[in-house]
Amino acid sequence: MKQREIMLCKYGEIVLKGANRKYFEDMLCREIKKRARAYGDFDIYRSQSTIYAEPKNEDADFDGLILSAQKVFGIAAISRAAVCEKNIDDIKRLAAEYVPSFLEGKKSFKVEGKRSDKAFPLDSMALAREIGGAILEAYPRIKVDVHNPDVTVRVEIREFGAYVSAGSIKGAGGMPVSTNGKGLLLLSGGIDSPVAGYMMAKRGVKIEAVHFESFPYTSERARDKVLKLASILGEYAGEVKVHVVSLTHIQEELVKSCQEDYFTLLLRRYMMTLAERIALERGCSALITGESLGQVASQTMQALGVTDNAVNMPVFRPCIGMDKEEIVTVSRKMGAFETSILPFEDCCTVFTPKHPKTKPELEKVLAEEQKLNFNALCDEAFETRYTVTVEPTY
Ligand code: ATP
Ligand code: MG
Repeated sequence: MKQREIMLCKYGEIVLKGANRKYFEDMLCREIKKRARAYGDFDIYRSQSTIYAEPKNEDADFDGLILSAQKVFGIAAISRAAVCEKNIDDIKRLAAEYVPSFLEGKKSFKVEGKRSDKAFPLDSMALAREIGGAILEAYPRIKVDVHNPDVTVRVEIREFGAYVSAGSIKGAGGMPVSTNGKGLLLLSGGIDSPVAGYMMAKRGVKIEAVHFESFPYTSERARDKVLKLASILGEYAGEVKVHVVSLTHIQEELVKSCQEDYFTLLLRRYMMTLAERIALERGCSALITGESLGQVASQTMQALGVTDNAVNMPVFRPCIGMDKEEIVTVSRKMGAFETSILPFEDCCTVFTPKHPKTKPELEKVLAEEQKLNFNALCDEAFETRYTVTVEPTY
């Protein structure tokens, strides 16, 4: 017979929350319930800093849910556990059958017992000893090491029964999405901005995105790539609304009237201004970009100052102190890298100046900006916006 298994999710940082803790727990539980629906019928419940998911029947895709749970921010660790009655003989039998497959190729283990139900006759120490003995008998190749074991087996007596787990998988960490406000991500097709979105979502921020395109200089395929990136981000962050705005006219006007070495900076000020308008319309309290200090000319300290000067809203740049390699590591981890490196043009890469200003002075940028009717161009671009709702695919 197939062993009855449940999934246990331990919270991370939420445990530190005082009065608000219940709110965070509810949000996390809701997220897991939402995901579980895609994998079949599960009972989801919460008890003692743990969320449990128990398949209701054989059709439920338990492994699928375990994989999906690894993308839920707010969970520190996930383990699968086998369940039985609260009876020491049953628990020993279960441990002897269930644990050995987790010990393959490992040298040492230890057992941690926990008796949450104090009516159970054995205390935690005695429980651990009994179960350790049963495992050694079933799998004599392994040694006990209480200080630095390869595998930690946990046996816990809870109100609903006993369970045995062996090892755990690291969770995504952070805080449940939507517990920390809503931010508007400036999403390009590059490597950095999806990572920035991922990092802010990990801090509990609900993400909406704005993408700037420049038809016919940018293509439909470039936009589809951005929507694909939004969908990858959505595996963690849930639904992502992507607001698409055309910069074609602004860019053409910039090329006609402004000094070439200021193009990128001026364009970035338009982008930030338009992003702020969308953020206000959508109830987002901050802008998020993938900028990293010194990575390109428009990301020097002076250039970022000029960019920030265009808006009043806080601008979060979670990649600011990371080098490219570190950003790529996160990009791979979130599964975006292969898509990010597809070679499609971005509106920032059309009309790029040969010698962009790296130490711009705000006054000179503003003087350059005044050659055009900034507000009128923004109004016109703002009217081109349309929204694509990218549903989560978990
Ligand atoms: P990325 O890898 O995220 O494209 P990048 O290093 O190529 O970043 P830039 O092209 O200078 O840097 O863009 C800096 C930031 O501006 C991006 O991280 C992103 O947040 C935003 N951005 C750039 N292009 C666009 C765009 N077409 N639509 C929306 N936001 C954009
Ligand atoms: Mg880019």
